[in-house]
Amino acid sequence: MSGVLTVGVLALQGDFERHARAFEILNRSVREVRRAEDLDGLSALVIPGGESTTMTLLLTPKLRDAVVEFCRNHPTWGTCAGMIMLSKDSRDPRVKPLGFMDIEVERNGYGRQVHSFEADLRVAEEIGESHKPLRGIFIRAPRLTGFSPDVQPLVWHGEDIVCARQNHFLVSAFHPELMDDLRLQKYFLAMKA
Ligand code: GLN
Repeated sequence: MSGVLTVGVLALQGDFERHARAFEILNRSVREVRRAEDLDGLSALVIPGGESTTMTLLLTPKLRDAVVEFCRNHPTWGTCAGMIMLSKDSRDPRVKPLGFMDIEVERNGYGRQVHSFEADLRVAEEIGESHKPLRGIFIRAPRLTGFSPDVQPLVWHGEDIVCARQNHFLVSAFHPELMDDLRLQKYFLAMKA
């Protein structure tokens, strides 16, 4: 398989370890990214779930600049809090998103009572085996509330778009790293910047 060689996972906080394991199952090497230098030589980056407010605080100016520079020309995937970080608008002044995708998200948009749920999701053909639903775990997940026409929906929960792509950026509101179904990981590894 060509394309991505070493995948970086931003490891400031959140569930970066499970992401690493999923890519290792697919025979990719993974590097945890904590400092600007850790981005050297990587082919792609995952921004994991966690808390976007905390991530905002932990992204020191030097690391933030390096991540922004890296993301400009490498495939980047944000899951859950990472989706918020890739958006242009999180509608929360405590979060300073990196601002790459023309999406608007609402933090914890699935309601306070439903902090966490699991659901069968419908997938677009390009994800593969589209007749088979993808099981998704949502943990205080962000809701996609708006997007520009060149954002491509890839996965749906009912009417809601819960995974989408724009150029070399991928976001998912749920946590694919917690499931054995690695279709989204494979899709991401095939993406090019
Ligand atoms: N609610 C978190 C936030 O707003 C996201 C939750 C998650 O990443 N599982 O950042």
